[in-house]
Amino acid sequence: MENQVEEIKKKLDIVSVISKYLPLKKRGRHFLACCPFHSEKTPSFTVSPELQIFKCFGCGKAGDIYTFVQEFERVTFRDALEILAKDAGITLEKSEQLTAAEYRQKRLLALNEEVARFYHYILTSHPLGKKALDYVLGRGITLPTIKLFHLGYSPQNPQLLVNYLTKKKFTQSELILSGTFGKSTYRPGLYDRFIDRLTFPLSDQRGRVLGFSGRILPGSKPDLAKYVNSPETDLYHKGQVVFGLHLAKDSIRHQKSVIVTEGEFDLIS
Ligand SMILES: [Zn+2]
Repeated sequence: MENQVEEIKKKLDIVSVISKYLPLKKRGRHFLACCPFHSEKTPSFTVSPELQIFKCFGCGKAGDIYTFVQEFERVTFRDALEILAKDAGITLEKSEQLTAAEYRQKRLLALNEEVARFYHYILTSHPLGKKALDYVLGRGITLPTIKLFHLGYSPQNPQLLVNYLTKKKFTQSELILSGTFGKSTYRPGLYDRFIDRLTFPLSDQRGRVLGFSGRILPGSKPDLAKYVNSPETDLYHKGQVVFGLHLAKDSIRHQKSVIVTEGEFDLIS
């Protein structure tokens, strides 16, 4: 299944796929259009032929050819796969039709798992996380709690995590689609959304990591938001995920009530 999803992606150029739906104008290394997903007069919908992804700097929608067709046509991943397979002149194998969406999900889940592991390692076992660890312990949160919730810290140098994930065979576009990374128009390389923040994995009921929340540390620049969350991705949809839910659900079932807390911190302290 990996092969056909990737094969189609390699065969089709995102610029020509999107051009079927929207008029794109070339600007430097990118292509621009007015965003089809929100209303605007100045184009902020950007397509990168280099990365084979699109991103709207107005509403934040981003993804690859599959995401675009899914969103534009309002169809499922499988439908988008079939549409694009046809365009690419590729006949989908039966089993692959069923598992392609699962494959994509699995890749992003595996990636998030690695990101959570990396952040957690930095916080608990690396000198780069010492400042953050001292802060958390100072707030009265114990090491067993830090481990239970898999808290982490994203170090100042995003390249460390990029290298770690690249070694694990994740691609640059997967890093971006996971929502943890973004690509700056002005600087080379990827930036980490949670840089220099305490990180909280946001999990579903089965404990799978769908996204993250990041909290600033004392001494951060005053203009930074206290909390930053993953943007909407194929996995993470705001409002569907509650921090600590997989740990809290048994007690929720018993008490038949949930106390919704303001920040992640209130939940664990
Ligand atoms: Zn938009």
